[in-house]
Amino acid sequence: MHEVEESSGIDRRTILGYGTAVGASSVLGVVAAGGPAVAGPRGAAGGFRRPPGLTGKALLPGDPGYAAEVKTYNLVQTPKPGLIIAAANARDVQIAVRYAASRCAPIAVLATGHQPSVPIGPDAVLVTTRSMSAVTVDARRRVARAQAGALWQHVVDKSVPAGLAPLNGSTPIVGVVGYTLGGGLSPTLGRKYGYAADHVRSIEVVTADGRLRMVTAKSDPELFFGLRGGKSNFGLVTAIEFDLFPVTSFYGGAILFAGEDAGRLLHAYRKWVRTVPEAMSSSVGLLRVPDLEAFPPPLRGKLVASLRIAYVGRPEVGASLVHPLRQVATPIIDAVASQPYAAFPVIHADPVDPAPVYERTALLRELNADTVDALLAVAGPKAPFPISLVEVRHLGGALARSPRQPSAVSQRDAAFTLFMAGVAGPEQAAATRAAEENIIRRLRPWSTGGMYLNFMNVDDASVDAVRHAYRPEVYRRLRKLKRRVDPANLFRLNHNIPPA
Ligand SMILES: Cc1cc2nc3c(=O)[nH]c(=O)nc-3n(C[C@H](O)[C@H](O)[C@H](O)COP(=O)(O)OP(=O)(O)OC[C@H]3O[C@@H](n4cnc5c(N)ncnc54)[C@H](O)[C@@H]3O)c2cc1C
Repeated sequence: MHEVEESSGIDRRTILGYGTAVGASSVLGVVAAGGPAVAGPRGAAGGFRRPPGLTGKALLPGDPGYAAEVKTYNLVQTPKPGLIIAAANARDVQIAVRYAASRCAPIAVLATGHQPSVPIGPDAVLVTTRSMSAVTVDARRRVARAQAGALWQHVVDKSVPAGLAPLNGSTPIVGVVGYTLGGGLSPTLGRKYGYAADHVRSIEVVTADGRLRMVTAKSDPELFFGLRGGKSNFGLVTAIEFDLFPVTSFYGGAILFAGEDAGRLLHAYRKWVRTVPEAMSSSVGLLRVPDLEAFPPPLRGKLVASLRIAYVGRPEVGASLVHPLRQVATPIIDAVASQPYAAFPVIHADPVDPAPVYERTALLRELNADTVDALLAVAGPKAPFPISLVEVRHLGGALARSPRQPSAVSQRDAAFTLFMAGVAGPEQAAATRAAEENIIRRLRPWSTGGMYLNFMNVDDASVDAVRHAYRPEVYRRLRKLKRRVDPANLFRLNHNIPPA
């Protein structure tokens, strides 16, 4: 079995720190693009009052605590709602939805603020869910129940001691509900078991009429279909119940190669992915390390190619599967090894600090020699692109199959996601967005034309863009469902699907 190699004075903690810095330190000296969080005088904007009967808090613009409550992880947009309901329970959510509906005000929901879409302004009621973070695990049934504001870390904390793992994403600090309602592409278990949305058992949701419903495949098949993949279009989810899997460890982590070896790695990778079993999940990220003293010379100011691996099975099998990619060049650091499941954040080493991040995405039909060359031309070591991360993530396996209970997660024909994250303050925003658009354009010949909803950020949040997250027949079906459950489109401050 391959052990973590600690050469060049860089260890695993540095890799994690490095991910953090990509997210935050590279914007030292720039301010968030969203501007001041507090909008105008107390209570002025939407003429809202505090609805009675809440267990949690109601906050109007100018109230102490308002600015803290609208804090988001992604700083490109700061919500400026006319009223915040910091919900303590499902009843609070009902009160918020009924109050907003009575005033025909749009309703938005904020858990962590990892995925901004359209601006939330003074005409809106914002429900924040961070006080609702309880998680319970039923080890016998292999099921977890998470409240609206729970993070993946909360689930893992409870499931791992029971020998179980969820279909979590790359970072422990993303919200379980937002992630799952957008599909839920797990970099550890996705190819083996499918999307997180495929394994939801029940959803507790407050719909636009203010009713609290327990939705299952039996109770309301159409709403159950739409919620799983439709984000907040069909209501505000207060809790979700989903499957856990008997996984306690994985063979994986990241291997960092110098930017000059990115071409060799990507060309080997595109052939390698065709040979690997479904238990192997992987991606390659091209990371632009900030030119800051905090980073050791092999990384500082450089492009680094990160091979991310998660194999669920015997470590020696994982090692033999990874072996050919280890041979493509001498890595800067090789941190792929047998790990306890709870160590999953080391695979991507995602940023943990808030930062303004512009993200773009596409789905790729294939990754052939021409695709790789096109990618390297715009994002390789010789391309001076200002983007912190450009990633191709391998799909297929169970992600390509329709689940037993069909869902709105319908772009299953893609072989890879393309994902970009550009950390940029106001001064760098235009250049970053233009560079991302350029990459999207250059890779269009290999794009399916679809997009993966969870990777769609402010630049992919128009109604027209959102349509690309669904197959046409699914989109039509979702618009009909929207007409049934939210005909006034109160839930429109999101990746919106307008009613038919
Ligand atoms: C660093 C990083 C790593 C990521 N890794 C992955 C990954 O590996 N796989 C993957 O699939 N995605 C990944 N994502 C994307 C992530 O799944 C989305 O950003 C997700 O929407 C985050 O949900 P949130 O609730 O934390 O964010 P928020 O910004 O708070 O919410 C985003 C949206 O989710 C919906 N939502 C949230 N809560 C509710 C609710 N209670 N009821 C109804 N709708 C709700 C709403 O539409 C809301 O606008 C990653 C994102 C980041 C920034």
